[in-house]
Amino acid sequence: MLYQSGEVAIELDKQGELSRRKVSYPMLVGTYHRLTLPGFVLFYDQNGDIKYIRGRGRDWPHPSEWLKRTRGNTWVYYFSGRYTEDLFDWLGEYYLPCFQYASNSLWRVDPFAEEAVQKALAVWKEAPFLAEGQLEPGAPSRITRFLHRLRERGEAAQEETTRELWRVLGDRIRVLPPDTRHVDYEVLPLIIADGCLYNCSFCRVKSGRSFHSRTRAEVREQLRGVLGLLDQDLVNHNAAFLGLDDALNAGEESLIDAATMCLHALRDSPLRERYLFLFGSVHSLLGAPEGLWRSLARLPCRTYVNIGLESADQATLDQLGKPVRAGEVGEAFRRMLDINERYDRVEVSANFVVDPDLPRAHWRELEGLLGDGPGRTRSKGTVYLSPLHGGRKREHIHLLHSLKMRSRLPLYLYLIQQL
Ligand code: SF4
Repeated sequence: MLYQSGEVAIELDKQGELSRRKVSYPMLVGTYHRLTLPGFVLFYDQNGDIKYIRGRGRDWPHPSEWLKRTRGNTWVYYFSGRYTEDLFDWLGEYYLPCFQYASNSLWRVDPFAEEAVQKALAVWKEAPFLAEGQLEPGAPSRITRFLHRLRERGEAAQEETTRELWRVLGDRIRVLPPDTRHVDYEVLPLIIADGCLYNCSFCRVKSGRSFHSRTRAEVREQLRGVLGLLDQDLVNHNAAFLGLDDALNAGEESLIDAATMCLHALRDSPLRERYLFLFGSVHSLLGAPEGLWRSLARLPCRTYVNIGLESADQATLDQLGKPVRAGEVGEAFRRMLDINERYDRVEVSANFVVDPDLPRAHWRELEGLLGDGPGRTRSKGTVYLSPLHGGRKREHIHLLHSLKMRSRLPLYLYLIQQL
């Protein structure tokens, strides 16, 4: 439905694409409501929560860039590189997501400092009132109800929903697997296990708790709460994230049970394909029986399991405070290659840390794994490089470039992104 009055246009239930493609322009996926005002276009999800904002004026930084509000109630600015950066080479995506919180990005761009972006972050709060002021007498009741809903779902209501989400989950989602970039980080979150096996000293996203699986009843109750919060917007989801930092270690029964529940919950989305994402660790990967991979492969979805390997050099692992042996990392890497080879719809990916100051042996081992390890070029088994510190972009890019030249696996940077 399209309604237009003066300089305001409202389109309800605008149908976007049914699957995501990696493109260098804004692509709407799912079903949204669109409100066009002088200077801005605002997109709302099926609950009436603000989702995207794009500027229309000449002061907007770039016509292909936009803002997105996440379920964790933070804003992400999609930076296009503005014709000067080979972002796709480094990220596997056409956009650099810029966050309002500290991440491990090498880029020092701050779009949030731009006046037009600040204006956008203010304008959405006024948008329903501005639009109502432009309505003609006798405007369709669906339109007036929609604007009323937007007023109800203002800043305070959205903040409250996010607080409730953390309460229902029993924790925050401080980091999503890098593979969730394939669904633009739009996931149904469900925590099946807390904590992790190692509590490495270098890690900035750990919960600090030791590993503990949740019971089936707890997970079921949690899912009920999450679905209640996603509410009408559930139709815009075709992916689930099973958290937290080592869901693979929860074991086959918990994993498959939770995955099945999530996929059932996602059954009515018109979006194509289904995805499942989770983290694993060196020891949960090495300890996972073959039957677990067979069970994952039988699920009606593509499954991505991301493993933090960090380094195959013992001195570097010790420096990072990661209590695993370099030999185990090498073994886990080979296991990853093996699983990726045998299970078409399961992909195990890996993370390694990068920093120009790490020991030379770290780089030597990494080059060996990426070049000689796979034996031939492979399209599965993406390796993500996670900068230990932001900045020093030229040095990092130089190092990454030489690794990319040798790597027989897809190789990209990992940007720490919250839910
Ligand atoms: S890197 Fe992974 S295993 Fe280590 S503390 Fe962080 S979440 Fe836990």
